[in-house]
Amino acid sequence: MPGVRVRFAPSPTGALHVGGARTALFNWLFARGQGGRFILRIEDTDRQRSSPEMVDDILGALQWLGLDWDEGPFLQSERLDRYRQAADQLLNENKAYRCFCSTAELAARRQAAAASGKALKCDDTCRELPPDQAGERRTRGLSSMVRFKGTRDGEVAFEDRIFGRIAHRTEQIEDFVLVRSDGMPTYHLGVVLDDLDMNISHVVRGADHISNTPKQILLYRALDRPVPVFAHLPLILGPDRTRLSKRHGATAVTSYRDQGYLPAPFCNFLALLGWSPKSETECFSTDELVRQFTLEGVQKSNAVFNQEKLDWFNSRYLRNAPAERLYPLIRSELEGEGLWKEQLGSSARDWTLKVIDLLKKRVRMVSDFTTQGRAFFTDEFEIEDKARRKFLKNATLPLLMPKLAARLESLPVFELEEAESALRTFAAENGVKAALLINAARALLTGRAVAPGIFEVMVALGQERTVARLSGTSWVKNDPEG
Ligand code: GLU
Repeated sequence: MPGVRVRFAPSPTGALHVGGARTALFNWLFARGQGGRFILRIEDTDRQRSSPEMVDDILGALQWLGLDWDEGPFLQSERLDRYRQAADQLLNENKAYRCFCSTAELAARRQAAAASGKALKCDDTCRELPPDQAGERRTRGLSSMVRFKGTRDGEVAFEDRIFGRIAHRTEQIEDFVLVRSDGMPTYHLGVVLDDLDMNISHVVRGADHISNTPKQILLYRALDRPVPVFAHLPLILGPDRTRLSKRHGATAVTSYRDQGYLPAPFCNFLALLGWSPKSETECFSTDELVRQFTLEGVQKSNAVFNQEKLDWFNSRYLRNAPAERLYPLIRSELEGEGLWKEQLGSSARDWTLKVIDLLKKRVRMVSDFTTQGRAFFTDEFEIEDKARRKFLKNATLPLLMPKLAARLESLPVFELEEAESALRTFAAENGVKAALLINAARALLTGRAVAPGIFEVMVALGQERTVARLSGTSWVKNDPEG
């Protein structure tokens, strides 16, 4: 579709959350799929609640997700003159008016209306104030805000690309504020002027904005400009079917990044929050998402955020990714944890690739390489209680394990087959099951009850470290029950 121009317009009043990221992703996918442009705009007119740190967080999160923008970031705070000029134009054309009511007066009227049992739909006390009176109040220095002067006898309707036709009577729409008494534009004024000036063709945003759209359409009409296409995205709910929020756990995208989730599976997961692909599979690379995504595929019904599904996508991605691709991520994770061993020298890379291949089938996220996989990268690791309880209790082990270590030490070749046959022979000679020794070795070598195949672990650790860990007896003394 030629001329597709979409935007993501977050307010930097908090970190980029999952819902915002999903909106950004859908806009980006639509733009990329249609050969259009993706514009980034920061809606920072709420000076009290906006902060530069949050702008950084949002930009960082978008970059991490790989959602590159073609234009911007534009800051609304740098366009204030433009909004004021448009508000003046609307005032001059009698499409807006000055309202001198104070916050207290407005609140009192709202309360009085509520007490008499009806909600105050529209507080338009100043709507018909003659211009000379308004002028006189201004010269007296009374503060005022600018309200939109809505028409009261018609319909405002639009064809939402996802929700279908939505119509309202104009008399139900209040005379909303365009410029606050401190001179700052409201969201409605900023968003419409920006979407106009930035030639936005499709406004794709969360369904929480659906009730704002009629007001904004009235503004387009008042400004005599064509209305863009609207597509509202379904809400994202937590597992308890209430709107996703911090109560449900982490919602900031950067916190997922910091926990070790990866951008590609994260985008795959986000894409399915409200979009149903035509194909059988749910697993897509980001390029495939670009090819498959359509606005028609977005559903009306609310989406449910399922952490287990995210974990599944992430571990699936790790399992299937070539070690080479994971290497830079794992290396920086190791560096961050102080576990990267420069002394391994030129073999560090090859060795790390092998360990990545060994561990990647069992991890959920990148950080698991340094937690679950810690024993591969350092000799300083704890044996988890579960492994100790399950596998190190047998009274014969303190005697057997050092002997097994000695047997392994004597092997001239230390590869899979040699290590395995040495252990099995040793078990048979001592009249114990091989599983007893294998499980104990797993606990002593990896500190974990669940780990990759034990002989692969031995070979990856190397003969020397394997022997040292199996012959050490500190675990015997450390066992409170042993
Ligand atoms: N700034 C608004 C928000 O963060 C988005 C406005 C819009 O997309 O129209 O919710």
